[in-house]
Amino acid sequence: MKVVFLGPPGTGKGTQAKSISEILNIPNISTGNIFRQLAEENNPLGIEARDKYWGKGCLVPDNIVTDLVKERIQNPDCKSGFILDGFPRTLAQAKSLDKITKIDLVIFICSYEKEIIRRFENRLQCNNCNIVYGLEKEPRKSGYCDECHKKLVKRQDDNPEVLKQRLKIFYKNINPIVKFYEEKGILVEVNGEQEIEKVKEEILGKMQSK
Ligand code: AMP
Repeated sequence: MKVVFLGPPGTGKGTQAKSISEILNIPNISTGNIFRQLAEENNPLGIEARDKYWGKGCLVPDNIVTDLVKERIQNPDCKSGFILDGFPRTLAQAKSLDKITKIDLVIFICSYEKEIIRRFENRLQCNNCNIVYGLEKEPRKSGYCDECHKKLVKRQDDNPEVLKQRLKIFYKNINPIVKFYEEKGILVEVNGEQEIEKVKEEILGKMQSK
């Protein structure tokens, strides 16, 4: 199954995409994680994307992200499907994706802004495992990843100013994307304000009934 996860930053999209991709044994393609990893490896594209765009809460240009996703989903591991987390983020990206491949289901994980801001204040990430910790999922040892025991970090773009910008961009772009997928009859909504396990069950239920 080829699935897209949509939702505002901080709605638990990444956590759900990771967990469901492990259950279904299909790759979880997070464009945000790809950019962070490229920057960590000192890759010139990764550094440019960080310094010019994501470090400031801005979107990386459509053509760069689309080329990256196009190449990634051609990998043999995507043959039986994939989850796209963080792509598309603009209508232009959604239209390009539609030309590249046929998406089966779009899961829109919804949360109110107040809840998003509350969650962000406590959000830390493991850059090694890409696991996100916070109010709903606290690490067993404070400040360290449960899996690899490395130190957790605050994302560069998780500060209040950048978050405001990221939310603004999200709300500016989301309606035409939702409409695009609604018209195709493949969009379903999930309440992202429930406990992590409940959100997961709801997503899996919607995927099974597809
Ligand atoms: P995320 O981890 O999904 O919140 O993404 C982190 C940052 O990477 C975003 O704020 C953007 O700057 C950039 N990014 C990730 N995916 C996309 C995309 N589909 N289009 C443009 N920029 C993106």
